[in-house]
Formats: sequence, structure tokens, C-alpha cells
Amino acid sequence: MQEDDIKKNIEKCSRCALCLQNCPIYQIKKDENNTARGLVCKLSGYEKKVLSKKEISKDLKVCLNCSKCEENCPSKVNTTMVFAYKNAKFNPSKISQRIFLLVKLLPIKILYLFNIFKKNQREKSINSNVAYFKGCIAKAQHKNTYLDKIFYTPDFLCCGLPYLTAGDIKNYEKAKKRNIDLIKKSSKVVFDCASCKKAVMEYIELDENEKSKLLFISDFLPKKPELKENSKYKNKTIIFHKPCHMNKNDFKKIEAFLSSIDGINYKKSDSSDLCCGFGGSYFLYHPIIATKIVLKKAASIKKSKPDLILTTCPSCTIGLRFGQIISFNFKKTLELRDFIDKELII
Ligand code: SF4
Ligand code: SF4
Repeated sequence: MQEDDIKKNIEKCSRCALCLQNCPIYQIKKDENNTARGLVCKLSGYEKKVLSKKEISKDLKVCLNCSKCEENCPSKVNTTMVFAYKNAKFNPSKISQRIFLLVKLLPIKILYLFNIFKKNQREKSINSNVAYFKGCIAKAQHKNTYLDKIFYTPDFLCCGLPYLTAGDIKNYEKAKKRNIDLIKKSSKVVFDCASCKKAVMEYIELDENEKSKLLFISDFLPKKPELKENSKYKNKTIIFHKPCHMNKNDFKKIEAFLSSIDGINYKKSDSSDLCCGFGGSYFLYHPIIATKIVLKKAASIKKSKPDLILTTCPSCTIGLRFGQIISFNFKKTLELRDFIDKELII
């Protein structure tokens, strides 16, 4: 995002405060400095040279980049990218942070190397110009799910969001460039992680036509889903956690799909879109705030009494599992694609 785009976005804000109610950080800290309106006002103060970088960067660092403020914003301020870019500019990653990120990504990279030879075992794609954007964690685990079987899986790099939020613009741009090249060569791109899709939708180099090629797993769900005879979730209660980065249309399609499965009790939950608190590497930098959000989510899950929690983001999966452990609830959490693969006849 260029400085001009950032300025235009800041000017669009009408200071209406509709973004406050859903902000997970505001709900915990009750401090308007940590809301979208507060951050936009501060950035505007910085542009007018009334506030210093130091007075803003501390608050920018606390933003989860969850995009919940964007959902309610009548002026369509692109808060996620404005805050992520400004944070990266004000707080560029230091050597120590880069090592920290490298150590964090190391298990994923090692797993990926271990599994690289399994690539040859993939079934031949039957829809090869539709690309599957397999996220870093799924790639490392090397799960061959139904998505691998029907789509071509080129080597996309990380969506870039973990780099950008860690202040590493150089690696963000590198990942973005490679991914854009691959997107241009594909007729469609299918995502099964809501955060990856949101991050790629934010690539400013993609035009509207190219963005319309970016689709979600919600458009590629089995048409007449049938539970396997021996499924352990027969007659069990299942809930779905909506990742903050998932759009409402994709969520509606997934809810309709889950409701249509005979033999499970899909329970719509009022708190399905409460943030899980993990936000990529957020938990590592802000463990106290993140744990408070995780516990709030875990308490809301407990009320629904589920046997299984489904979602569509590996980071949310980790956050939800962590929440189950620290709240002594121990309900299983699965990625939707894994549930389809293991429990449905497809
Ligand atoms: S991105 Fe999330 S945490 Fe940051 S201001 Fe918006 S709602 Fe709050
Ligand atoms: S909802 Fe949008 S326009 Fe309203 S204060 Fe928040 S960022 Fe500004």
C-alpha cells in the first residue's frame, strides 16, 4: 500500500465509532486508543505533524489485524492494510524478531522438507487450471485431502500476512510477487484458509477481474453430503467457528452446507464469530491479551456444548485447541476440509 492510499483511507473515516463494538482488543482493554477510530485519529494526527511516531506505534502494535472493524465500517476504510503497513513502517522487524519468526516457521519448514517427496503420490488433477492455494501449515503437514485430488496445487508461497504483521515488508513483497505470477496463470484459485484468502485479496497489484478468480472452499463443498456409516460424529453436536477474516457470504454457504448433513446436529451459535485470539503470531507477541480473548471464546464454546468444533484457518484451529485445553473442556477442533475428508462419503 502506497502512502497516498493510506492517506485517502485515513481521510475516508467519518469517526462514527461503528467499529468499536466488534473490536476484540477494545472489548478487553476498554481503551479507544486501540480501536480503529482511535488509530485512524492518531494516524491523522501524525500526518498533520501533531503526534510523533512513538505516540502511535505502541498502539498500532496491539492491533490484531483481525479486520472486524472493516466489517462494520460504512466508509469502507481499509483499516487492516493501513494498520499493518503503518505498523511495519513504524516498527520494522529487527534481527531478533526475524530470528523469532524464523524459529517459529522452522517446524513448518522442516515438516515441509520431510514431506516434499510425497508430492509424487498425488492423484492426477482432473481440473488442472484451477489452482489450490495450499497454506503453509497444510503444506507442511502435507495432507492430501479432496481439494488436492480435484485441483492443481502449484507452489504458492506464504500469503505474506505473517511477514507483514511482523514488520518484514521485504519478504511480504517477495511472497506477493511469486503468488501474483501464479494467480495470473490460473483460471481460478481456491482457498481453504480464510486469512490466506483475505491477505491475497488485499494485493493491490491484482485488478478486479483477477480478484474475481479468488474463491473459497465454500464454493467447492460436496453437493449431497452424506455422513460415513461409521462416523464418530453421528448424532453429535457440531459448531463452526467463523475466522475473523472470513466474509459473511462464505460463512452463510458453510452454515447451509453443515445444516444439510443428515446425522449430525449442526448448532448455529451466536458466538461463532467471536475472535479466537490467536491472530497468526499475535499470541507470541501479546500473550496476556491473547489469552484473555482465547478464554472468552472458550467460555462461549462451552455454552454451546459441542462435541466438535470446525473452522477454516490453521491459526484459529491452534487458538481454539489452546482454548479448549486451558478451559479444561477438551472438545476436538478440526479443519472443515479434514472433516469432509474423514467423515463424509465424497
Ligand atoms: S483490526 Fe481488529 S484489533 Fe485492529 S482495530 Fe480493527 S477490530 Fe480492532
Ligand atoms: S467505522 Fe469506519 S468510518 Fe466509522 S470510525 Fe470506524 S473506521 Fe472510521
